[in-house]
Amino acid sequence: MISTSGLTYRYPGGEGITDISIVVAAGESCALIGPSGCGKSTLLHCLSGLLAPTSGSISINAPTGLVQQKDALFPWLTVEENVQLGVRRGVPTSATTILDELGVAAHRHKFPGQLSGGERQRVSIARTLVTRPEILLLDEPSSALDAFTREALQDLVLAIQQEHTLTALYVTHHIEEALFLSERILLMGRGYVAGEFRNPLFPDPEARLQGRFYEAAVELRKKLNDVMAAERYR
Ligand code: ADP
Ligand code: MG
Repeated sequence: MISTSGLTYRYPGGEGITDISIVVAAGESCALIGPSGCGKSTLLHCLSGLLAPTSGSISINAPTGLVQQKDALFPWLTVEENVQLGVRRGVPTSATTILDELGVAAHRHKFPGQLSGGERQRVSIARTLVTRPEILLLDEPSSALDAFTREALQDLVLAIQQEHTLTALYVTHHIEEALFLSERILLMGRGYVAGEFRNPLFPDPEARLQGRFYEAAVELRKKLNDVMAAERYR
């Protein structure tokens, strides 16, 4: 479970996040959606311990893994060596098993520079999953990918979240991605959580083939437009 109360983080320039109180229940899959610069990464960095909150509190009760917005693979290490870095003593998961689960085992002896964007992203997810987190924080996993690669990655992430009953918080600015991956979507304005959207279609690996999915996308888009319109008067 993830829970925050009055979570606030200020950068020296004054930007950041203000008074964020959210709960993501164990096994729940949640998305955080909002425009660029609204503080999504800042929130994830606070949750993963990379940033210490200026005020407020965070409660997290299980091992947590973060997949960063920009994949941070070491270019001088092979795929397998990159993933092995995440292996912890006492965690019975081999790099090969997890690379296999993510469909990139065949590339294990290559260097990151020899992979496509989608493959690199899979390897970076593998490097986080090899630590066997129960809570997964993903920062815009597919923002740099073309539509086909993005959907394949989303299929994989949904399957993994469901199979391992992970508690997940996905940061995205992509409306269909939020709907495909999560049962509850938190809407962010500049620095704050402005509302939420419950997704009745989740989980459905075939959701993209249904008209209702696109109706929900329109509804969510309208809610986001309202948040952004209200923003202009703040
Ligand atoms: P998002 O992930 O939603 O695009 P961020 O969390 O990265 O947004 O950034 C939120 C705000 O904080 C932005 O206005 C950004 O310019 C600012 N910001 C981000 N990182 C830093 C930093 N290291 N120093 C100062 N300001 C920052
Ligand atoms: Mg970001």
